[in-house]
Amino acid sequence: MSVAVSVNGRRYRRRGIREVDRPLYLDDIVTPLERYSEKMTPLSRGYVPPGGWDDRFLETLVPLMGQRGPVPRDEPGYTQVDLALRVAGFHGAMATNCHTGNWTRPRLTERLGCLYDWEGPWGPSFVGLPWTPDRLELDPDEASEIVKEAALFLGANLVGIARLDRRWVYRPGWHRYEHEEIDLDAMLPPSMQWAVVMAVATPYEYVSHAPTARASAAAGLGYSKMAHLAPSLAKFIACLGYKAIACGNDTALSIPLAVDAGLGQLGRNGLLVTPEFGPRVRLCKVLTDLPLEPTRPVDFGVTEYCRVCVKCAEYCPAQAILYGGPTHEARTPSTNPGLRKWPIDGEACFRFWYRNGAKTERGMYHIDCYQCVNVCPFNKPPGFFHEVGKWMVSRVRFLDPLLHRIDEAFYPPRYRTGASRRGGRPGRSPARA
Ligand code: SF4
Ligand code: SF4
Repeated sequence: MSVAVSVNGRRYRRRGIREVDRPLYLDDIVTPLERYSEKMTPLSRGYVPPGGWDDRFLETLVPLMGQRGPVPRDEPGYTQVDLALRVAGFHGAMATNCHTGNWTRPRLTERLGCLYDWEGPWGPSFVGLPWTPDRLELDPDEASEIVKEAALFLGANLVGIARLDRRWVYRPGWHRYEHEEIDLDAMLPPSMQWAVVMAVATPYEYVSHAPTARASAAAGLGYSKMAHLAPSLAKFIACLGYKAIACGNDTALSIPLAVDAGLGQLGRNGLLVTPEFGPRVRLCKVLTDLPLEPTRPVDFGVTEYCRVCVKCAEYCPAQAILYGGPTHEARTPSTNPGLRKWPIDGEACFRFWYRNGAKTERGMYHIDCYQCVNVCPFNKPPGFFHEVGKWMVSRVRFLDPLLHRIDEAFYPPRYRTGASRRGGRPGRSPARA
């Protein structure tokens, strides 16, 4: 059973990527993994007040706000057109109260609910017709094909299925503005055993403007598409007569679920790297009790390639990405230790988002960065050369250092940032980082 793909309107079941019986990270668990508290993510801790709860962290962030200049300003990527694009990109997520996931709406709109709601008028079981769906009897293979096809129809670019590993469910979840813990273990029925994991690709051209507001517009559009996709698929599954819960960033860790479902592998940049779009995706998922057939995890050489490539670390304007080998130790309170990986310094990353942001007399907002997505050699527009590169990385691993040098020579990012500014990496125009 393979991941379903939609690229430029062409839909197919993925072929030519090596599938494995078990996710590779199982060999990298050094000490037992603790369940991760959503309260500890950099977004939960340091979201622009009154969102963030961690006052000590916020004290280091707020004075940095807007240090790189006002927005909009007369600089490529930060003009009024760029800011307008960013506002428009996020609009679908913001106007539907979805933001980055469930339980992220501000107090002003709390009572309106959101599209990720589990119950009520926005929840999956409210069909909106004078009709109560019967439970459709389907075998898991058939149900999986139907669900994957529906996900592509609704706008997913990648869709896979995993058995829901409860280790990835947040314990506890976190309400961003109420600053309250959410007991997901008590709320999530034991019958919810499957996760439909979906990726929406963000536009290559816009991401290439990282770390500016124009690239942030691409991230915003991804959140808006998630807010449509996951709730709509949950509604579809409910109309087949089964329980479904739509999730954005909330409820469970998206990246391990996506690795389990075979959407991609974990990269040095701490992101899911997919064969089709590299890390240029946003993830959402639907949890369900509809019995499904899982898609298989993949190995297309990301871990080996990341060992020779440090491009995301070099270009990271916050120098938040680890050089050298992986470690199972925590770097900040936001890291979950135990798994051998390249843990991100999420605090340093967030400090850059604040510096990149803006404040007015009416408040402030941070602007995310996306440079570690942009510079990744796996982030290429679809086409012949991307296919050849992907094939070589997955099959001819001794060529990784050569491919890395070719990528550096032919794909310099638009803006020099991070260590690349000092080391003289090629870039077409300088940006202050
Ligand atoms: S988003 Fe930007 S600052 Fe954060 S880790 Fe990626 S490159 Fe670094
Ligand atoms: S930029 Fe290089 S090191 Fe970073 S995630 Fe991509 S392939 Fe791995």
